Amino acid sequence: MASFYCRLCGSDNLKLYYCQGNRNQFKHYKCNNCKLINYDLAAGLDQSQYTDLSVDPNNDRLKSNRGQDQSYYFLKKHIKEPGTLIDIGCGNGRLLNKAKKDGWLVKGLDLSPEWADFVKKKLDIDIEIANFLEFEANQIEPCDVVILRHVLEHLPDSIKALNKIKIMLKRDGYSLLEFPNVEGFDKRLKRFLENTGLKHRKYAQDFIPGHCNEFCKESFLFLLKKTGFKLIKWETYSLKPIVNHIYNHIHIGNKARALIQKI
Ligand SMILES: [Zn+2]
Repeated sequence: MASFYCRLCGSDNLKLYYCQGNRNQFKHYKCNNCKLINYDLAAGLDQSQYTDLSVDPNNDRLKSNRGQDQSYYFLKKHIKEPGTLIDIGCGNGRLLNKAKKDGWLVKGLDLSPEWADFVKKKLDIDIEIANFLEFEANQIEPCDVVILRHVLEHLPDSIKALNKIKIMLKRDGYSLLEFPNVEGFDKRLKRFLENTGLKHRKYAQDFIPGHCNEFCKESFLFLLKKTGFKLIKWETYSLKPIVNHIYNHIHIGNKARALIQKI
């Protein structure tokens, strides 16, 4: 039994789902009500930020730029008219730059002053240095699109995060979110092998989990319902092109992408 309540629905019906660490000391619980995977934060959370300033946002061949390219391609496919866009946790700014070239008015938000400087110098895009959950969302003009790529799972309070996005959006505005899909095929297989003792992952001595809340489609829909959004499109994806094509259509990938709309 967990010693805390589900961070999404408040239920106490939590069941140990999987463990991490060489002594299985990091515990992740599944909520039987909303299906969110809640990490027991009492064991500590790794919130260190990695800033790799060698990732040139203008280099089309870098594999590490592929994720932002995919996200922007997805956005363009579903939203035809450029408007105003904010990317939260915008990294090297590649997505913002692509959108800017297509006529979007863009702005970034990032925790790292190094990234903010780098993006300003390289791409002439303004980045506000802020912690998203503490950011005063009503100080900005409401925009058409808010992007949150691989941030949601690191935030303890997902409801607060979505409510903040809601304040940042115009009426009927959209948000594009990406996060791990906890029910992806590879993740299920790994959990099965580890839970049955068939495989033992060796963790680094200083390993501490970085994800607070892990979503599947069901728990994500619960979050949307609770915060006043509707799901427009859900897909899973991979950064490997052929696998990506399959995962976009058969939703078994380890990473999910969702377009949602404020209602
Ligand atoms: Zn729950």
